[in-house]
Amino acid sequence: MGDSHDLGPELGDVLHVCPAGPEARVIVVCEHASNRIPAALNGLGLAPGLAESHIAWDPGALPVARALSERLSAPLVHGGISRLVYDCNRPPEAADAIPPVSEIHEIPGNRGLIESERQMRIAEVYDPFRASLAEEIARYRNLSLLVTVHSFTPVYRGEHRTVELGLLHGTDPRFAAAMAEAPPAGWRFDTRINEPYGPADGVTHTLDLHGPPNGLMSVMLEIRNDLIATEEDQAAMAAALGDWIARIHHRTEARGAA
Ligand SMILES: [Zn+2]
Repeated sequence: MGDSHDLGPELGDVLHVCPAGPEARVIVVCEHASNRIPAALNGLGLAPGLAESHIAWDPGALPVARALSERLSAPLVHGGISRLVYDCNRPPEAADAIPPVSEIHEIPGNRGLIESERQMRIAEVYDPFRASLAEEIARYRNLSLLVTVHSFTPVYRGEHRTVELGLLHGTDPRFAAAMAEAPPAGWRFDTRINEPYGPADGVTHTLDLHGPPNGLMSVMLEIRNDLIATEEDQAAMAAALGDWIARIHHRTEARGAA
C-alpha cells in the first residue's frame, strides 16, 4: 500500500459483509454486486456507458442477494468493486480474472499490465474477498449451504438467450439437481442446469473453493437480468428463490445429504 501502483485510498470498500444470527444455515455471496472502478484506474479507459453495462457487474443481482439473505436469515458477502478491476469469481491464474476483453469490448486499462500491477489487484481485491468469505464461513457453525447470486445479459455476442434461470454447480451437483427436480408449483421460468454458463467457463470458482472443503452444499444462481430490472421483480424473484431454496434445503438436511 502507498506506492505509486496501489489503487488509492478510496479503494477501501472492496467487499461488504452483512452478518446474520449465529444459527444461520445458509450463506449468500454476490461477487459481481458493484460496478465501482477506483478513481486511480481512470475508468479503465472504458468507452462511455460501458461501466454501467453488464460487463462491469451483474445488474440486479445485489438487491436479489440481499432480499434472499434476509429471507433465509443468511449472512451476505458481496463485492464492492467492478469485476473488470478483478473478478472475484476467478482464481488469480485465470486469464479472465483481470479481463483484457469482456464479451466484445476491449478494456484498455487491463491491457499490458505488468506483473506488479496484476499482483496489486490480486492483493487489494481478490485476497481480501477470499479471506473475508472464508472467515464468515468459519464464523457460523450450522452452515450447510453456500448460494451465490449472479445475473446474465439476455443478449450475448448478438445472440438472444432463452434460458431465464441457470442453476449452476461445480464439483458438487447435489443442490442444483435437487432444485431442478422440484421447482415451485407453477414455476414459469425456463430453468436449466449449468446454463448459460457452466464449469467449463470457469464460473464455479467460488463454489468449489469454499463449498466442498467446508462441507457445504452449493449452488450458483444465474438470473437473466431483464427479469430483475425493477424493485418489484427483484423482490418477487428473491421471495420465490428463497422459498424454493429453503424447501430443498430442509429436505436435503433431513436426508442427511449434507
Ligand atoms: Zn456474475
